[in-house]
Amino acid sequence: MSERAAPFYCPYCGDEDLRPSEQGHGAWECAACNRAFQLKFLGLLARGLQPNDAGGDEI
Ligand SMILES: [Zn+2]
Repeated sequence: MSERAAPFYCPYCGDEDLRPSEQGHGAWECAACNRAFQLKFLGLLARGLQPNDAGGDEI
């Protein structure tokens, strides 16, 4: 894993025209809405990797 995953869509306008920014690691620029943003890994969730109980059918 040498490279970070790239975002597919701009989180602000939804466009796909993203390019890496010179601002630093994980920074991207959207050519469509002219916004710059940064993706940052915050850490693992405290609840761990338990399956999400979305069904709600359990008694
Ligand atoms: Zn955008």
